[in-house]
Amino acid sequence: MTTYKEFHARSIADRDAFWAEQARLIDWHTPPTATLDYSRPPFAKWFVGGTTNLCHNAIDRHLATRGDQAALIYISTETGEEKTYTFSQLYREVNRFAGILKGQGVGRGDRVLIYMPMIPEATFAMLACARIGAIHSVVFGGFASVSLATRIDDAQPKLIVSADAGSRAGKPVPYKHLLDEAIKLAQHPPQKVVMVNRGMAEMPLVAGRDLDYGRLRGEHMNDEVPCEWLESSEPSYILYTSGTTGKPKGVQRDTGGYAVALATSMPQIFCCHPGETFFCTSDIGWVVGHSYIVYGPLLAGCATILYEGTPLRPDAGIWWSIVEKYKPTSMFSSPTAVRVLKKHDPALLKKYDLSSLRLLFLAGEPLDEPTARWISDGLGKPIIDNYWQTETGWPILAIPRGIEALESRFGSPGVPSAGYDVRIFSEVDGSEVGNNQKGVVAIEGPLPPGCMTTVWGDDERFVKTYWNSVPNRMVYSTFDWGIRDDDGYFFILGRTDDVINVAGHRLGTREIEESISSHANIAEVAVVGVADQLKGQVAIAFAVVKDPARIATPELRRAHEGDVMKTVDSQLGAVARPARVHFVTVLPKTRSGKLLRRSLQALAEGRDPGDLTTIEDPTALDQIRAALSF
Ligand code: AMP
Repeated sequence: MTTYKEFHARSIADRDAFWAEQARLIDWHTPPTATLDYSRPPFAKWFVGGTTNLCHNAIDRHLATRGDQAALIYISTETGEEKTYTFSQLYREVNRFAGILKGQGVGRGDRVLIYMPMIPEATFAMLACARIGAIHSVVFGGFASVSLATRIDDAQPKLIVSADAGSRAGKPVPYKHLLDEAIKLAQHPPQKVVMVNRGMAEMPLVAGRDLDYGRLRGEHMNDEVPCEWLESSEPSYILYTSGTTGKPKGVQRDTGGYAVALATSMPQIFCCHPGETFFCTSDIGWVVGHSYIVYGPLLAGCATILYEGTPLRPDAGIWWSIVEKYKPTSMFSSPTAVRVLKKHDPALLKKYDLSSLRLLFLAGEPLDEPTARWISDGLGKPIIDNYWQTETGWPILAIPRGIEALESRFGSPGVPSAGYDVRIFSEVDGSEVGNNQKGVVAIEGPLPPGCMTTVWGDDERFVKTYWNSVPNRMVYSTFDWGIRDDDGYFFILGRTDDVINVAGHRLGTREIEESISSHANIAEVAVVGVADQLKGQVAIAFAVVKDPARIATPELRRAHEGDVMKTVDSQLGAVARPARVHFVTVLPKTRSGKLLRRSLQALAEGRDPGDLTTIEDPTALDQIRAALSF
């Protein structure tokens, strides 16, 4: 038996041999000629010369042994639909979708943007892109037209796949008008749009551009589309994530490295094995959905549950009733979701037969101890925190129970996963800090397989953003503060930058500021993340208006606040809407004009605003205090 320590040490010290062994977990059309090319740091090319295909590994290779086994289990508590696709049925649907894409001239290297609710067709579209070597860019269905337009212009998709509507708590959320608006705003509109009609909302088709999926599917019923064999480093997808600038970054993922990383993580971290079922409650629009709703489970020969709905309908026991019915062995959710459940009857945690379930994984944001204890005690199952980022694609820190049943420690997401050489550096001089001392969590290059290979279309931004931020070192910065204890467990202590984390979703304060500033009556605005009991953090805005008459009375103020929120809703989506917009006449800045963000955040959290010797106008803080108590 290998211990975790031996296993991890080997993944770093004997890197090439270690990953060459792991690479056998997937099928290669042509085997790699070298495990790693790191001749141009920090750009890592894993499994050089090997050709493979994600769709082949997720579906085709399982057909002979598990064609009739469940692959995709779709459950919608929004529409009441429930449908299981076997690997063979999934194979058929994905071939049809691949035929549709090819029929529209989409091929290897072309981008396809997927703006979809949680329906099976979204998964078919992703896998169909992978099959033909097209690069998908899934945009979360909760984003609105400006967010969408920015992503269209950056990825320049040849085709967009969308649907008439999503659904939230039983109410349709129409997509088409947002999509049309985004395409109008975009400089690089797509040639074609394929629309899935769920019969939930109007979806007028634009002649010559928009196509009906149902009709096309009928024309491609019997298509068999061969897999395109991609060189390991060819991109599989782009997924946008927020940073400190207003422009989201396109995280680019490779093909072979990603397949290998996910294939290793399924048994080693998530303890899920071929023939078993995995239940991840995330959304395909986020990285967790890409890796652990779609690719990870299928690559490992597991069934995956695609759930459309909230954790509370028809009641807060819905997830556990799904566990009883479909018997997943591992489940993956977020701390916010658990905090939502915590407001409901704990008896619901005991109502169903959960004997299939071995472990519950939680990630995406800090996991507080009371929440972890509540759910662990309630379910009688171990809770495994794990820490990662859109950029890494799979856990940086976790408890790799598939290797060794290490104990979990409350407050710690665990220890480094295979291939991650995680260290903590001083933000002042880049020296490595000792155990139990706070610093920036960083990873020594090369990043292991599966991590981002670059920023889409912008190698320079990749190097500048991620590899040049720890002084005197070329290491990958996670932009998280952390400490390591004497036993090698890491603790994550919040972001070093202005990125905020709302209910496990990363939002850039700058993007929200840009949206609010576009409101005709806003002169200036600052958005900060403020601690919140339910969502971890929420965005709070402080805005200076141009025309004070519009906020002259409490009623007007409230109406104006609603109006500003509506601007954010329509441009970025409700997910980015600030919890409050406070109006002031001046923002706290230094004499050189730099916004005192940390002081603003501290005040909003009821803490001491800290060092204010450089403040230009001390009355600005009184205004903030007054606004907060308003
Ligand atoms: P995202 O790329 O949107 O998944 O956000 C990644 C960020 O979420 C990380 O950089 C952390 O700040 C935070 N995060 C993710 N997982 C955890 C965790 N288990 N504990 C603490 N913070 C986390």
